[in-house]
Amino acid sequence: MPEIKLEHVTKRWGKFYAVDDLDLVIQDNAFVTLLGPSGCGKTTTLRMIAGLETPTSGRITIGDTVVFDSEAGINMPANKRKVGFLFQNYALYPHLTVMQNILFPLENLKGKDRPSRQEMRRRAMETAQLVQIEELLERKPKELSGGQQQRVAIARALVKMPRVLLLDEPLSNLDARLRLQTREEIVKIQKRTGITTLFVTHDQEEAMSISDKIVVMRDGVLMQQGAPQQVYDNPANLFVAKFLGTPPINVFEGEVKNGTLLLNGQPALPVPGAPDGTVFAGVRPEGFEPDRKGPVTCGLNRVEVLGRDTSIVCTHPACQTATLRAIIRSEQEVDAKQETVRFSLRPEKVFLFSRESEARIPFDTTPRPRA
Ligand code: ATP
Repeated sequence: MPEIKLEHVTKRWGKFYAVDDLDLVIQDNAFVTLLGPSGCGKTTTLRMIAGLETPTSGRITIGDTVVFDSEAGINMPANKRKVGFLFQNYALYPHLTVMQNILFPLENLKGKDRPSRQEMRRRAMETAQLVQIEELLERKPKELSGGQQQRVAIARALVKMPRVLLLDEPLSNLDARLRLQTREEIVKIQKRTGITTLFVTHDQEEAMSISDKIVVMRDGVLMQQGAPQQVYDNPANLFVAKFLGTPPINVFEGEVKNGTLLLNGQPALPVPGAPDGTVFAGVRPEGFEPDRKGPVTCGLNRVEVLGRDTSIVCTHPACQTATLRAIIRSEQEVDAKQETVRFSLRPEKVFLFSRESEARIPFDTTPRPRA
């Protein structure tokens, strides 16, 4: 299945840039997720790939085919791009059976693209088997569960044997349990077919759990892309650091002096290599290590036992939010009756950012032998 490539793709409405100079490669057979807050340009990007929206400028290639090039004047119509598309509010035709719903896109094909009746049925059956709904073919949509309806919708998107599959928040109208189940289904179907898939969501947990690669966008601009764990462990800027992770990262207003991070004027962590100046310091919840003699003292609000982990809700004068959350292993003890709790910080879970640009400021996290 082909690769999708976007080069300098921009979509402007008047002076407003919905997508700004986007460069992106989606490798063949990959499951890639576009992730970002509402309005950041995810749907617009998908629609431009599908051919439902015309970019203001740039170039889009699917496999070896240039489907859009503003300079060369190429704009292949949507129905020629061989793209399967599943929208947020997909609707099955209520008066048609599952089989008829799946056949529908094939019956709409014209001329030489239109397969024979027999071929249509063969393909519909094959697709139904792929998403495991072959038992339901004679039912009407209202006789199906939400997850089954979803699978029919996916079958309908796949039956034309698209080269790529574009999914725009396809799980947003399902309840939590079904959502989890269906997204696993989607991943399985993707692995089985190897179809290059671009998935859109604003739900970072969903993106992290199902993607080979995530692409984080903000205000039409690509912020960072990479494997989920890699982006989580190495956020390029404060926005990405805050967007990924539950509970979210804790952000402090700090200062670097002589290679040491100061929080509220107190030394909190050696940060060799970071230049002097004020910074934002982000500490992942799992970056706090209870330590009786630790350098970071927090006011203790409450201790929540979550089974495997324990969540400590506390306060710190340099923290941007009223409370911060540390997650520790449940065997580590914290006395809930105390007024304060002390921590040391795990350097690989601490990120420094510029106060001006919010870009990451690197420091050396390799442990040094004690002098
Ligand atoms: P959501 O998660 O809410 O679906 P999104 O990231 O998919 O958001 P888009 O739908 O791509 O965002 O929209 C990007 C921006 O472009 C938004 O600010 C939106 O208001 C704007 N926009 C979208 N379509 C048009 C249009 N036809 N005319 C003008 N502005 C538009």
